[in-house]
Amino acid sequence: MGSRKVTDWQGKRVTVAGLGVSGIPAAKVLHGLGAVVTVVNDGDDARARAQAAELEALGVTVRLGDGATLPEGTELVVTAPGWKPDKPLFAAAAAAGIEVWGDVELAWRLRGPDAAPWLAVTGTNGKTTTVQMLASILKAAGLRTAAVGNIGVSLLDAVLGEEQYDVLAVELSSYQLHWAPSLRAHSAAVLNLAPDHLDWHGSMEAYAADKGRIYEGNRIACVYNVADKGTEDLVIEADVEEGCRAVGFTLGTPGPSQLGVVDGILVDRAFVENRQKNAQELAEVSDVNPPAPHNIANALAAAALARAFGVPASAVRDGLRAFTPDAHRIAHVADVDGVAYVDDSKATNTHAAEASLAAYESIVWIAGGLAKGATFDELVAKSAKRLRGVVLIGADRALIREALTRHAPEVPVVDLDRTDTGAMPAAVQEARRLAAAGDTVLLAPACASMDMFANYNKRGDAFAQAVRELGT
Ligand code: ADP
Repeated sequence: MGSRKVTDWQGKRVTVAGLGVSGIPAAKVLHGLGAVVTVVNDGDDARARAQAAELEALGVTVRLGDGATLPEGTELVVTAPGWKPDKPLFAAAAAAGIEVWGDVELAWRLRGPDAAPWLAVTGTNGKTTTVQMLASILKAAGLRTAAVGNIGVSLLDAVLGEEQYDVLAVELSSYQLHWAPSLRAHSAAVLNLAPDHLDWHGSMEAYAADKGRIYEGNRIACVYNVADKGTEDLVIEADVEEGCRAVGFTLGTPGPSQLGVVDGILVDRAFVENRQKNAQELAEVSDVNPPAPHNIANALAAAALARAFGVPASAVRDGLRAFTPDAHRIAHVADVDGVAYVDDSKATNTHAAEASLAAYESIVWIAGGLAKGATFDELVAKSAKRLRGVVLIGADRALIREALTRHAPEVPVVDLDRTDTGAMPAAVQEARRLAAAGDTVLLAPACASMDMFANYNKRGDAFAQAVRELGT
């Protein structure tokens, strides 16, 4: 393994699959190293043509409108992570014995010999939050670091840029892991595993296996979720370096080799002397922002990775205190008439919404949107006792309504029967009518937003705007 010398790339014929956020920088970097680069892309619209023109001006060949055919003479394929593995291009590469790398694999291979080690995070939900918490903790320890991957700085920039790092906090999606066969993290965490993106991976087993790749070759610690056996199974199956430890995190009292919570304190029983007897206090639950159960789990996972890297307990506390979550992730918008309004527009699947609903006692829930094939029975059954009322919006709201009829028949439901953007102020008005002082009105749609909004940010903004208008 290790990094390739620049000379390895001279004249190498590389096909970059997909123009886009990863493809364009990959094509530029490889071209700069002397490779002969051809970019292939399914689309042939005005935007693609403009991007192609920019690359062609540098000397890169671009084929628009045909992402299926492998160009003659290809020696390596570098793919956008989102490209489905069943594409004909990959079958052609496999038949010819040609390797396929994703954006993460490319960054991993191009990093220099003294490159910073990677602390890697994946999971169905909580990746971005955990990686940001981790970066905050590492910074509090005085380390030069950045949150990279799906967020912030791109991985290629992080490994090739001017900036020097001591360690990187890396967010990895299941797609990226699928295409990263030789990645070897210092330590890694799988936060949780729930069905998501199954159409892409083909099955739950394939999805889990791709997530599990993050543990391969770990040197110090494989961090898993004690409450989610699937994550521990992946550790057991992983082939790791001699001496690498399995470290669990739990919202309960931690056993040896675990981090957990005792009397409102986050404690470490993994990275301490004599872990049979000793525990190290790291921080208070109230240092975690917001202190919702799933977010405490994220904080424990971040703490475990930081401790695996040798960070002192005080830096865990300082880093967690300094952390503020990104917008639309359980963001408290306002209190109106004693009712709290919370925007968790980022809860775009049922697993995330379940975590969000578990954080409050009495909720008026605003839900609905594009279900992406999800079912809602489990979510509704688990959350029913917390629901004061429900307001439904969006294209697939009938699926949620049916689950409510089955599992929470006594909960009042307002079905707005609208998918226009004006539905959000109406939903907030209805929620206000259903709520009593002390309740929380929670936007946690359990669905994607694209039926009504450009993205989840816009959906959350519309909610916050509507809430602000309530007060006026
Ligand atoms: P990701 O990067 O994996 O999409 P984020 O940190 O952006 O995750 O959080 C996305 C949403 O998932 C949040 O809005 C919250 O509703 C939910 N969430 C965050 N952490 C967890 C967790 N540990 N378990 C379940 N749901 C979570």
